[in-house]
Amino acid sequence: MPEGGLGRTKINIMEKVIRTKVKDLLKTQPGVQVLAKGWVRTKRGNKNVNFIALNDGSTINNIQIVVDVAAFDAELLKKITTGACIAARGQLVPSMGSGQAVEIQASEIEVYGEADPQVYPLQKKGHSLEYLREIAHLRPRTNTFGAVLRIRHAMAFAIHNYFNNKGFVYLHTPLITASDCEGAGQMFQVTTLDLDKLPRTAEGAIDYAEDFFGKRTSLTVSGQLEGELGAMALGEIYTFGPTFRAENSNTPRHLAEFWMIEPEMAFYDVHDNMDLAEDFIKYLVSYALEHCADDLKFLNDMYDKELISRLESVVKTDFVRLTYTEGIKILEESGEKFEFPVYWGVDLQSEHERYLVEKHFGRPVILTDYPKDIKAFYMKQNEDGKTVRGMDVLFPKIGEIIGGSERESSLEKLNARIDELGMGRESLEWYLDTRRFGSAPHSGFGLGFERLLLFVTGMANIRDVIPFPRTPKNAEY
Ligand code: ATP
Ligand code: MN
Repeated sequence: MPEGGLGRTKINIMEKVIRTKVKDLLKTQPGVQVLAKGWVRTKRGNKNVNFIALNDGSTINNIQIVVDVAAFDAELLKKITTGACIAARGQLVPSMGSGQAVEIQASEIEVYGEADPQVYPLQKKGHSLEYLREIAHLRPRTNTFGAVLRIRHAMAFAIHNYFNNKGFVYLHTPLITASDCEGAGQMFQVTTLDLDKLPRTAEGAIDYAEDFFGKRTSLTVSGQLEGELGAMALGEIYTFGPTFRAENSNTPRHLAEFWMIEPEMAFYDVHDNMDLAEDFIKYLVSYALEHCADDLKFLNDMYDKELISRLESVVKTDFVRLTYTEGIKILEESGEKFEFPVYWGVDLQSEHERYLVEKHFGRPVILTDYPKDIKAFYMKQNEDGKTVRGMDVLFPKIGEIIGGSERESSLEKLNARIDELGMGRESLEWYLDTRRFGSAPHSGFGLGFERLLLFVTGMANIRDVIPFPRTPKNAEY
C-alpha cells in the first residue's frame, strides 16, 4: 500500500458525498447527506421555496429537490430551468408532498449546463411522438424514451441471459457478406469503388475484382446461413446483431437497420423449434413484467391502458399452432373484407395475420407448413412436394414477430431446390458443406428485436423503439 493510500481514501469518503443515482435515492432511508446529479424536468414553487424535479435516467421517477430561495443566489436559481443539468447536495428528508417518500433539502447546488428556455425544444408539456422523431437526438431525455430505452436494454440483457442459461453459444456472424442469395430482402451494397469512375471488364460490366473484397459485397440481411455453420459444430448457437434491408417499405413495422436474434439448433425439429420460440418470448415478457414494472406502468398509463394485461395474458396462454393451409381456410371463411385477397399460395399480409391472432383466436398463433414458393430455399421440404416446414409466430398488434423453420438437411433435396430456383450453387458451396459433411436435422428462427419491443412497450411505430431509426430517406444523426 503506497504511503497515504489508505488515509486518502478515508478523507475522500469523509469529505465528499458520493453521487447516488435517483433510483437508489428513492429507496434510501432519510437522515443522510446525499448528492444527486441529473437533468431538471420541472421547477415550480413561490418566492420562498422552489421544488425541482430531477431525473438522471436511472428510473422513470424523479427526485424532488427542495430549495430555500433565501439561502441561494438568485442568479444561480434563474439558471435552473427545464433541461438544465445540475448537481444538488443536501439532507435526504421524508417528503411532505405526495408521490415520493423522500426528497433532498438542498444545501449546495451547482449548475453544470444551462438549457435556454427560449430555444430548448423539450418543454414541460407533453410532445407528440411525431415531433419527438424530428428531434431524436434529444428524445432520450423524455419520460417516454427513457422508459423505452431502459426496457430495450433490459430485453437485450434478458436475451443473453436466456440463451446463456440454456448453454447456447453467442456466435458473431459477419455484417459484410458476399452471399446475396438469402432472399430475405433487398441488400445495401458495400463498395470502395469510385462511383464516378467504375472499373469495367472487357465485356463492359462493373469489374468487382477491383473492389475492396475482390467481389461484390453487401450488408447482411440475416446471419442465419453462418449461424447454421455454428450450430453444426457447437450444437446450439444464437446471434444478436444488426441486420440491414433496403426494403422501400415505409410501414410502422419495418426499419432499414434493425436488430435480430437468430438461434440455430442442431437436432431440433420444427416442433422443438416452436417450443423454444414460445418459451423464449414468454421468458422475455415475464422478465419485462418483473424488472421493468415502473416503466411499463408509465407506458400503460400514458399510451395503452391494456398493455400490462396483454403482457400478462401472453405469458399465461398457450400459443395456437396450425398449418398455413388451415389458416387460409379460416381467412377464406371469415367473411371479412381484406385489402389483399386471400387464397392458398398467397404471402400473408399483416392484416391477415392480425385477423387470425386478434379476431379469430384472441391469442398468439404459430403458423407452419407454408407453400414452398413464398419461403426461402433452405426450408425443409414436406412429403407433399408443395409445402415446407416454415413456422412464423404471429402476435397481436404486430403480425409476424418471428420467422423460422426446420432446415432442409438433405444435400440432394437442397441442391434440387437451388437449381429449381436458378440460384447458382457456386457462391453457396461453403454453406452446402454443412449438408455434405455430417449433416443433421436442425432448426432456427429470427426474432426481430424491435418487433418484440413494439409488443413489450405498446408503442405503435417501430421508429419509437430504437434510438436512431434508419428508414427510407432518413439517416439523421
Ligand atoms: P415481413 O414479412 O414482416 O417483412 P419477413 O418475412 O421479411 O418479415 P424474416 O425475413 O422472416 O421477415 O425476418 C425475421 C424477423 O425479422 C421477422 O419475423 C421480423 O420480426 C423481423 N423483421 C424483418 N424485416 C424487418 C424490418 N424491415 N424491420 C424490422 N424487423 C424486421
Ligand atoms: Mn420483410
